[in-house]
Amino acid sequence: MVAANPQHPFAAELRVGIVSIQGAVQLHAAAIARAGAAWAPVRHARDLAGLDALILPGGESTTISKGLERVGLYEAIEAFAQSGGPVLGTCAGAILMAREVEDFPVRSLGLIDIIAVRNAYGTQVDSFATVAQGELEGLRAIFIRAPRLKRPGPDVEVLARVDGWPVFIRQRNALATTFHPELTPDGRVHAALLELAQKRQS
Ligand code: GLN
Repeated sequence: MVAANPQHPFAAELRVGIVSIQGAVQLHAAAIARAGAAWAPVRHARDLAGLDALILPGGESTTISKGLERVGLYEAIEAFAQSGGPVLGTCAGAILMAREVEDFPVRSLGLIDIIAVRNAYGTQVDSFATVAQGELEGLRAIFIRAPRLKRPGPDVEVLARVDGWPVFIRQRNALATTFHPELTPDGRVHAALLELAQKRQS
């Protein structure tokens, strides 16, 4: 467990797990530390014990999916989320949280009633940065082989959009972004996760 930053408004006792099978783990860890919470890597179902929130990072969803299968983390994450544990999935993590995945489907957790279409913006060279529209004014969003999210169900709140497409969504205690919030200094997406964790504690 990495120590929390006591200077920050978020309660230092919040502990965030980051699924550490493959992908952008370290930059999420840095964002959580900047927000004043502690973090720990999650590689096995037992690592979820005592966590206040969980992050499924970006990377390659096929690879992450195989790792989740191998160690029984699908069932463990589903149970964590069903018991009210806040979960944030980014890019590949958002794919894994969707109800359904199109274009090279992977097994998903079904935590958010939405369809994720993999690599819908093109390949690595089509990666781009832009400012998303929504409640979070000036939210800079970096997309790397991102999925597109479509057909949000009635319980899905769209918090930000780019060209009309949902890029930051929430369903109860589940949050997902198709962009990489860990790549910018803007801490508002991670703060949203920590706020859910804090509400659950109080
Ligand atoms: N294209 C990747 C996938 O489908 C996601 C890319 C990312 O997480 N940056 O899994």
